Amino acid sequence: MGRPEGPRAVSGFTLIELMIVVAIIGILAAVAIPKFADLLRKSQEGATKGNLGQIRSALSIYYADSEGNFPSDDLSCLTVDAKYIAAIPKAKSPSYHPEDNRVCVGLLTGTASGCRLGLGAPAAYDGQVNGIMWVYWETDTPPLMGPVRSKGDFWLGCTHTDTKGTSWMSY
Ligand SMILES: [Zn+2]
Repeated sequence: MGRPEGPRAVSGFTLIELMIVVAIIGILAAVAIPKFADLLRKSQEGATKGNLGQIRSALSIYYADSEGNFPSDDLSCLTVDAKYIAAIPKAKSPSYHPEDNRVCVGLLTGTASGCRLGLGAPAAYDGQVNGIMWVYWETDTPPLMGPVRSKGDFWLGCTHTDTKGTSWMSY
């Protein structure tokens, strides 16, 4: 006994072996691709929560610096000379809205450029104002819709939920 010789000794994969390999690759891809998409979404959610905390920190430092006053603009005052934050980071609520770093300001009056909301402001939510997602509340009166807010509050105006099932509005 020994190795077979002659033309039959030429080894290679049979058709059935190749089909099995292709099927295994297909199964692995079917398992891995959705997991990858989920990971991608979770990392974007983590970035948004981090950005939310970053802006809130900048706001509280501004508040302390300004002897108890919150900004009265669309938070561009925070980025002047990168004093409180280098730039307003992006809001993402995958996979519902395109990312956006503009800030909608909730207050009674105001004619400054950008997004200005009335108190009822149903349009404040879900990026209905030109796709703007961040909302900064600049008045003492709470909004008529959504969770109770006070002056200086900052949140993501999205009623959709993240992968934990929590509404973005509640972060
Ligand atoms: Zn939404």
